Amino acid sequence: MKVLSDDFSIHITNPSVTDTTMAPIGHSAVRIMVPVPNNESQIDWDQEREPFRNKILDTVKAKLHLEDLEDHIVEERVITPKEWEKDFHIHLGAIFGMMQSFRQIGMGNPVNKLHKQFKNLFVVGTSAHTGTSLPYIMESAKYAVNKIIKKDL
Ligand SMILES: Cc1cc2nc3c(=O)[nH]c(=O)nc-3n(C[C@H](O)[C@H](O)[C@H](O)COP(=O)(O)OP(=O)(O)OC[C@H]3O[C@@H](n4cnc5c(N)ncnc54)[C@H](O)[C@@H]3O)c2cc1C
Repeated sequence: MKVLSDDFSIHITNPSVTDTTMAPIGHSAVRIMVPVPNNESQIDWDQEREPFRNKILDTVKAKLHLEDLEDHIVEERVITPKEWEKDFHIHLGAIFGMMQSFRQIGMGNPVNKLHKQFKNLFVVGTSAHTGTSLPYIMESAKYAVNKIIKKDL
């Protein structure tokens, strides 16, 4: 179901803890990431952006006991799937690529069909074989390079 959940998962990173160049001294660069449906959902992000942002911050404040969190925000940027698609050219705004569902992995991956259709086409990246996320994307590049070397084009 491509709807916004009230019980979302939250991924928080604060790289300035180990890399002081990420923010001015005495400040932090915090990223709060919440998985949401891709743009097939037809969610109106212009309407949902603010209330959903508030819901996320309320949850973070409550779970981490940081009631005054917002008082410490100096700069803030909210990026939704709408911007990922429009400004960064990411298909459907899905930054992690295709869902890892049974129909979309292994032989079900539509990229495999492309490979069958076009013998000299090599697709790499988050939705290609071997899978989503950076380590798998690197593997997918290795896999494509090996195929090209074998073909000796
Ligand atoms: C905020 C955020 C946090 C993330 N955190 C993690 C993490 O912690 N760990 C992890 O493993 N992954 C993470 N990811 C996911 C990871 O960054 C992506 O899965 C990965 O970058 C996808 O790589 P890619 O090469 O397939 O596609 P992309 O990096 O999206 O590259 C595709 C490129 O193609 C360009 N492009 C699109 N259409 C066209 C066109 N028609 N013509 C020419 N160029 C075009 C785009 O502009 C883009 O530069 C994160 C992503 C985001 C956005």
